[in-house]
Amino acid sequence: MARLKILTFPDPKLRKIAAPVNKFDKSLNKIVSDMLETMYEAKGIGLAATQVDIHKRIVVMDLSEEKNEPRIFINPEFMILDDKSLFSCEEGCLSIPGITEEITRPDQIKATWQDIEGNYFEDKPTGLLAVCFQHEIDHLEGKLLVDYMSSLKRDRIRKKALKA
Ligand code: ZN
Repeated sequence: MARLKILTFPDPKLRKIAAPVNKFDKSLNKIVSDMLETMYEAKGIGLAATQVDIHKRIVVMDLSEEKNEPRIFINPEFMILDDKSLFSCEEGCLSIPGITEEITRPDQIKATWQDIEGNYFEDKPTGLLAVCFQHEIDHLEGKLLVDYMSSLKRDRIRKKALKA
């Protein structure tokens, strides 16, 4: 396993749109185990491949306290089931260190994904899992937490990041 470098805002590579995975082979296994190691090292709860400059639709997560429940989502997608049911959560992002923002997102979603062998799954996650799922899919679409903020706040974070 290897620890990968996490891209940080405003790196333009974070804006790339990830391509679907269609080969469920050894190289996918390697990417997933490297992503898990990178996420655990960085003490994150989720990581999208885009954040480590791999532009494929791969997401890893671990929402457990003991950090012993890795979840792997290949080609994840979601559908909003009820756009009036919303959930607000203070979100952070490994690509925007030191910043959190309260974001409101749909809470009733239908999620679909594949596992590392290509088997199909679906579920109706709520709460933190629903939030994370949407946050990580945003990454695959080149979208970031800062896009939910005012342009004033976004510019302030960009200037601070470029100075650092
Ligand atoms: Zn993120």
